[in-house]
Amino acid sequence: MSFLTKIFGDENKNYFKKLQPSVAAINGLEKDFQDLSDGQLRGKTEEFRERLAKSALLDDLLPEAFALVREAARRNLGQRHFDVQLMGGIVLHQGKIAEMKTGEGKTLTATCPVYLNALEGKGVHLVTVNDYLARRDCVWMGQVYRALGLSTGCVNHDQSFLYDPDYKKAQESQDAQRDSLGSFRVSQDFLRPCSRKEAYAADITYGTNNEFGFDYLRDNMAYRLEDKVQRKFNYAIVDEVDSILIDEARTPLIISAPDEESSKWYQDFARIIPRLDPDADYKIDEKDRAATLTEAGIAKVERIMGTDNIYEEKGIKYLHHLEQALRAQALYRLDRDYVVKDGQIVIIDEFTGRLMPGRRWSGGLHQAIEAKEGVAVQPESLTLASITFQNLFRMYEKLAGMTGTAMTSAEEFDKVYTLDCVPIPTNRVLCRADLPDRIYKTEAGKFKAVVAEIEARHKAGQPVLVGTRSVEKNEYLGKLLEREGVPHEILNAKNHEREGEIIAQAGRSGAVTIATNMAGRGVDIILGGNPPDENEANKVREAGGLFIVGTERHEARRIDNQLRGRGGRQGDPGTTQFFISTEDDLARIFAGDAMKKLMDMLKVPDDMPIESGMVSKRIEEAQIKIEGANFDIRKHLLDYDSVLNKQREVIYKKRNDILEKSDDDFAAYVLDLARKGNVGEQYQKREDENGREAMLQAGRFIALRTIDFFWQEHLELMDNVRDATRLRAFGQQDPLVEYKSEANKQFRVLLDTVEGNILQNLLNVSINKNAVSSMAQPRSQKPAAKYDNVNRNDPCPCGAKKSDGRPVKYKHCHGR
Ligand code: ADP
Ligand code: MG
Repeated sequence: MSFLTKIFGDENKNYFKKLQPSVAAINGLEKDFQDLSDGQLRGKTEEFRERLAKSALLDDLLPEAFALVREAARRNLGQRHFDVQLMGGIVLHQGKIAEMKTGEGKTLTATCPVYLNALEGKGVHLVTVNDYLARRDCVWMGQVYRALGLSTGCVNHDQSFLYDPDYKKAQESQDAQRDSLGSFRVSQDFLRPCSRKEAYAADITYGTNNEFGFDYLRDNMAYRLEDKVQRKFNYAIVDEVDSILIDEARTPLIISAPDEESSKWYQDFARIIPRLDPDADYKIDEKDRAATLTEAGIAKVERIMGTDNIYEEKGIKYLHHLEQALRAQALYRLDRDYVVKDGQIVIIDEFTGRLMPGRRWSGGLHQAIEAKEGVAVQPESLTLASITFQNLFRMYEKLAGMTGTAMTSAEEFDKVYTLDCVPIPTNRVLCRADLPDRIYKTEAGKFKAVVAEIEARHKAGQPVLVGTRSVEKNEYLGKLLEREGVPHEILNAKNHEREGEIIAQAGRSGAVTIATNMAGRGVDIILGGNPPDENEANKVREAGGLFIVGTERHEARRIDNQLRGRGGRQGDPGTTQFFISTEDDLARIFAGDAMKKLMDMLKVPDDMPIESGMVSKRIEEAQIKIEGANFDIRKHLLDYDSVLNKQREVIYKKRNDILEKSDDDFAAYVLDLARKGNVGEQYQKREDENGREAMLQAGRFIALRTIDFFWQEHLELMDNVRDATRLRAFGQQDPLVEYKSEANKQFRVLLDTVEGNILQNLLNVSINKNAVSSMAQPRSQKPAAKYDNVNRNDPCPCGAKKSDGRPVKYKHCHGR
């Protein structure tokens, strides 16, 4: 059976039936818990933990734990979980996605499963879409957890906090204010700054997907165990899960370092290379597209640059770039391999002859060609670590999510994350009116109508929320309204905190708010404004509630539904209306021409709308098509990253093992490595010379450094392989299959290389105070010993190999 029937069919009804006994059990406990003192409530946490230790399961504790949280929220926050919120909470505990409409109170819903799962003491992460919401929810919900004896942390981009009401001795009035304004105002006085590690050590941690992801990558670049900040990923609830797991999943997280240094070199090289003699100074291999300097060539470069020994003075990386400059000069031709267009180097596809704007050669080659042609050299960046959100979130023991709009992406959640989606009924009956689209011939005609509609609603005292697709359209509409003298606020998703304040008041009588899709997301629009005022609310209700205007259809239906969902919360009245023109991107591409002709034929004036089921349907079909295409793009990204992901896991595990080993274990590991390489005695001698302590310290460092160096080189290499296999796709082979087999081959080489190099570096290291710090230089290993009578271009006698299996030249290794 397809997942769709599973979700929409009778199964859903059965599913809800299955939840009923749990909800009834929680309700049945309510009275008992109300009779407990605050201290007794807190004491329950200890009791639950003891029962868990004595083999009780989280599921066994669910009814009591949920009833406890509900009571704590009622006392401390003034909100009692609705039954549908309990249902949502159970779904989240089961590791599924709960679709709960906007305004249903997902923030509070999460507290039940968060508390229950935090009892195990392994940490629970609540993932939000921005730093401001992480702080807001930490302060707002932190009081519930605190009342039950649990700690709550929050990681932001540049700071982290622990929830602590005693931090600034907050006044009672502040506490009360938080309960009414907590949905948008963050009381910073409750947040005590702390280290990142402390925030992660808390029972519960709020933060964004980016921060959780970057901290993960950074932890796996740490050189000391104590520098790691995260614990193992246990349970996460992702708020606005569609934004994070779908919209943001199109691009991976990348930690990179700008490589300013090498950018400067290219100009120098571009001047030097033309002075070399193609016959005597360098050798060209057309087939492998390789170029190497001869001894004579090197001597000439040294003379030009006025140095005695270029290897010693400049280092391995410098030489690499010098060789790239040589390749750029000798192997790549203007108008055959690339063109210069608008001051940029544009690659010509060697198979199709098409220009490929935006694509860049890697490893510094592109920069070398830029320098050669005298156009601006773009700075290079080095990828130090990267991961996709898909692979990041799949690492959690248990994953759950919540959003107002999940069902249209149910297939992707299922296929990529094996997450089921469950729609939760609303607390009150939804009575929002979603009017049929109004379709105009021209965009100008459409906006004229939009402005007229806004003005009329505004005059009638109805609040209006306008959604636009881009900042540009946002500002354009703002200007039109200004001309008509309609007061309004514009939100562009730039300053979340300030925009939260504005969106919180977007329900006031006559308010006009124009927002892009993400602006003010997560903040509730209460009719009449916030703090709530019954009279004001009634006035707005009588005027018809919030009026929502869509100015264009988005690429995904989900985003349109999010906009609609901002109205009609908790049974409020409200209306949504989309305005579309045949000139809009989506309509133009998929139904425009035919539509326009029809409208011309009917002699429809520009500002006269039609309501056409045909057009609306065509647009929806177009959206489904685009959704599918975007899914494919994300799937593709994931397919490739999954190949690397397995390797990343192996490398990170290796690293961790080294970090976590006791001194004795590490010593044994190294000795074992040495014996396997038949150099056990040599190693022992080294140890006797340098002392065990120093040898261990340096050893650990060398091992980590060596892994990182070759891993980062591998990442760079795999980038190239990916480009190369993509090109080979024209030869009918599946590029992914090729990529995989090449990746596996390279990885085996990498593992061998790493072990060999750790050993070599250990044997050669001469320990003094500088040895360790010189090893710390990014991306350069610096072995200490030298060999006699070796030609610089010969393979290094130490036997070091590059990650592609070729020997490292002496000049790049011990001959430096
Ligand atoms: P969502 O994230 O689902 O859109 P929020 O968590 O922002 O919704 O909550 C919307 C509003 O509903 C907030 O102002 C919140 O204070 C309020 N709310 C949520 N649950 C309850 C409840 N059980 N009782 C009273 N108010 C609630
Ligand atoms: Mg929310």
